[in-house]
Order: sequence, then C-alpha cells, then structure tokens
Amino acid sequence: MSMRIGYGFDSHLFKAGVPLVIGGLAIEHDEGLAGHSDGDVLLHAITDALLGAVSAGDIGSFFPPNDPRWKGAASSVFLQTALEEIATAGYKIVNIDTVLIMARPKISPIAGELRERVAELLGVKPGEVGIKAKTPEGLGLDHTAVAHCTVLLESLDGPDTLGRMAASADAGSEEELNAVVEGLIGDAHDLSALGRKIKPFDTDDLT
Ligand code: MG
Repeated sequence: MSMRIGYGFDSHLFKAGVPLVIGGLAIEHDEGLAGHSDGDVLLHAITDALLGAVSAGDIGSFFPPNDPRWKGAASSVFLQTALEEIATAGYKIVNIDTVLIMARPKISPIAGELRERVAELLGVKPGEVGIKAKTPEGLGLDHTAVAHCTVLLESLDGPDTLGRMAASADAGSEEELNAVVEGLIGDAHDLSALGRKIKPFDTDDLT
C-alpha cells in the first residue's frame, strides 16, 4: 500500500457585507470572509492539502483569482476538483486534521455540524475529520481567519498506481516508459493526474 501526506494553509480577512461560509457551512455572523470566491478559508486549506498530497499544484494554479469564472464561487467546487485529482491519481482519504484560528465567531457551538458538513463534502465519515478551533492569542490577527490542514491518503488498490498507469500507456521502449513515469510522478511534471495544465505554485492566491 502506498501512502501520501498533504498539508494546506490559508488565511482571509473578515469583511462586512458578505455572508460567512466556513467548511461549506453558512454561519450566522455580522461579517464574512473577503475573497474572489466565497472566501471559505477551511475548504481552501483542505483543497491545497489534497492537491499537495498528489503533487498536483495548488488552488491558485487551478482557479486563478483573476479568472472571472471563480468570482463568488462556492469553494466546494474547488474541493471537488481536488477530490477528482486524488481519485485519478489512485488515492483515497484516510483522514484529515485541521486547525481553524479566529477570534470570532466561536466555533465550539457549531463544531459538530461543521465536522459533519466537511465530511459530507469529502465523502468520508465524520470520524475521519478533525476540526480544532483556536483563538489567535498574541498573533494580532483578530480580524483574520486562518486554517491549517493535514491529510493522509492511501492507494485505492495496491501499490504503485501511478507506475501502473504509466505501464498501461502505449510506451514502446524502456526510455519512453521512463519518460511517461517521469511525466506522471516526476518533480518537474506540469500536468495533474487528470491532465490539467498546472504551474508549480502560485504566490498570488487570493481565492
Ligand atoms: Mg483562500
């Protein structure tokens, strides 16, 4: 069995006049999160962790913030794409663990509901999702929401799924086969498992 680990981080400023959506859950609050999309800081961190686990770029490379298609978009769309990427690469989620950091609103009253919603979006059991809420003591970030996520994946059906994908390709020689394998799993690949063109990273992720 093959396992992969992924890590994601995101932060968004609070902003008046927009609804607050965290983990795909609409939350009653006097401010929402600023962003090109719905600003769902938790789903963005989870999306990046999933993409990172299969070396498929990051949320900004799939959904550039200058693309009008993603203006106000529900972040569950981004998450769904990341789930397609890991499935195509031959992996499934073992568990995810997250930390949400914000001064307000308090997460504890909705923690159970939030965990169930995230599990539903990921297609896993609530017991496979960890959500821990912290306040930003000493960070000076009382008007910011921060999320961290770690994810563990395991291969769907035995080891070396990526290698078998390469082997099943029409590669006539060992050299050609190596080129296919490198294209799939090499450090310099610029295609995701689904063949989407990706950049190595995007430093201007405003999603
Ligand atoms: Mg974001």
